[in-house]
Amino acid sequence: MLADMSLGNSELALARQVLTRGPVHRAELGERLGLSPASLTRLIRPFLERGLFVELGPSSACVGRPSKPLDIREDIGVFYGFKLTGKVLQLVVTDARANPLTQRSRVLLSRQPEAVAELVATMVEEMAHLPAAAENVVGRAASHAAMTGIGICLGGKVCNGRTVLRAPFLGWEDVDFAAMVEDATGLATVVDNDLVALTEGIHWFGSARDVTDFCVITIGAGVGWGLVVHDQIVNTPDTGLGLGGHIPLGESDFACPAGHHGCAYTLLSQPGLAQRAKSVVGEAMDYEELLARAAAGEAGPAKVVSDAANALGRFIALATNLTMSPTVVLGGEGLGLWDMASEQVLAAADAERDPDAAPLRVNVVMDGFLSWARGAAAMAVQQALARL
Ligand SMILES: [Zn+2]
Repeated sequence: MLADMSLGNSELALARQVLTRGPVHRAELGERLGLSPASLTRLIRPFLERGLFVELGPSSACVGRPSKPLDIREDIGVFYGFKLTGKVLQLVVTDARANPLTQRSRVLLSRQPEAVAELVATMVEEMAHLPAAAENVVGRAASHAAMTGIGICLGGKVCNGRTVLRAPFLGWEDVDFAAMVEDATGLATVVDNDLVALTEGIHWFGSARDVTDFCVITIGAGVGWGLVVHDQIVNTPDTGLGLGGHIPLGESDFACPAGHHGCAYTLLSQPGLAQRAKSVVGEAMDYEELLARAAAGEAGPAKVVSDAANALGRFIALATNLTMSPTVVLGGEGLGLWDMASEQVLAAADAERDPDAAPLRVNVVMDGFLSWARGAAAMAVQQALARL
């Protein structure tokens, strides 16, 4: 994704460092970017001249010339991050660090792409009519914003941050959705797979901000998989196919929609667990009921949940063994399983790791839709940096 950006690589790396770490001292920037003080000064000057960076007062207690840390101007940008499902459109408005300023949600009355693009435009427009407190923040940011834009994420396969090639929940194929939203709003727009967005948000502004290699596993309507290697997200033509959902993790007496028995979808997704509950317990129940009955000690539901915990542990072990990096971020709306059985999950994962391997670091993101929408906003921030 970063390779598409038109800023030079050095400028982009600098802007990213100041954005994600500011306020930051020049010495630290020089070290992180591998630049001499003279090169760094040359690189920083245009950002200062354009008012994108500010120098804060001296804060260093070091001997010698006091250093003035650099930061991004506080009101530099306002961004609109959307998570689009087959049923609702959820929005979080953020600053340039993807910090939420305000949020809202609308039910889709139509899944037609033009209608959804119009709804995006309506929700962006509504931000001009917010209650006073929020309006002050969003309005002030919007009126001074040097950077702004829209990021939209959805479950599906997306090409070049613009065209939705396939989105089964929406029934879309080959929809140039970014162009539609840009026509409707007049704002630069980036569209991508929701796992890509979530992973970018966690990588730039979230719990893995300081980690160069990690993976993301989400549990919900499906099982999602995201990967960052050498500080870059892995985003290939196969991203968005939900390949992580087909990793074999155990046994099941039914198959996923692609025909696999015992894949992650059958053992971990909410629809998969509902189906397992039906075959093991003999009656239909949804995910919440399954967890509640397992917590109450009922044998059948407890077995389904225990199998799921072992499957998640195996997934974590496979992910960390194959990528050779011990950090995993768990997310998605199906984390009730983790709440109930985290010790069992970790024990199952450790059992399939090497005793000499680095200890697992499992971060959990449990803020519902917000982390997806923040991820979409993070993509819009990345795109805006490229346009500076
Ligand atoms: Zn499968």
